[in-house]
Amino acid sequence: MRPLIIIGNWKMNGSLAVNADWVKTVCRGMEQGMPAGRQYAVCAPFPYLAQCSQLIQDCSLAFLSLGAQDVSAFESGAYTGEVAASMLKEMTCKYVLVGHSERRQLHQETDELIAEKALQVLDSGMTPVICVGESADERNSGREVEVVRGQIAKQVAVLQDRLADCLIAYEPIWAIGTGQVASAQVAQDMHRAIRLQLAEFDGDVASHVGILYGGSVKPDNAVELFAMPDIDGGLIGGASLNPQDFLAICQA
Ligand code: PEP
Repeated sequence: MRPLIIIGNWKMNGSLAVNADWVKTVCRGMEQGMPAGRQYAVCAPFPYLAQCSQLIQDCSLAFLSLGAQDVSAFESGAYTGEVAASMLKEMTCKYVLVGHSERRQLHQETDELIAEKALQVLDSGMTPVICVGESADERNSGREVEVVRGQIAKQVAVLQDRLADCLIAYEPIWAIGTGQVASAQVAQDMHRAIRLQLAEFDGDVASHVGILYGGSVKPDNAVELFAMPDIDGGLIGGASLNPQDFLAICQA
């Protein structure tokens, strides 16, 4: 049985004051009781990881943890501006996003680079959240499964059975930050296609890997999405900025 995992992605938002208020509000809300057997996390910008780590430790809820939004593909050395996986581990991160569509689009990240990043995250004892998804044009021309299969195939080629220790986030680009959520059935169909592709490689890996959905998840559509058999949780962007909305999604 795969646990439901809900991860917030603040992107490039926040401040010391806003973050402190967010974590305190979410903690207080979660202390009132949460559905059993779920995991929650928030991916904060790099400069705020130390602050959020402390706040989350102070709150001491075993099911709430910290994540990061990116990582270097290199272990250490002369890579100015990069952040190593070992540093994120020291900041108590449990999850690290790799290959978010904003990084693929704005920073020309390739599937090969993303797989290298995922390896770094695994080697440091954390869980990579490997983001995949098609553009509106790719879906409108009927190529969405082919595109996502191509992205997954590159991860399988590099990560092999270590994929069992990863999460995959299916995030259709047309749904990210647009308010245009994929219907629960559209999302389920792609999650199923991903799981079947993983099963072509290894049945155990396919049944272990959590596949999260991301793209305009809100409190009012989360219940239907999370009820789907191959949707194992969500990656939440815009709605995670509001602690009450994030809480409502976590309780969905
Ligand atoms: C994201 O950026 O990962 C995301 C899913 O954003 P949003 O929820 O705002 O669509």
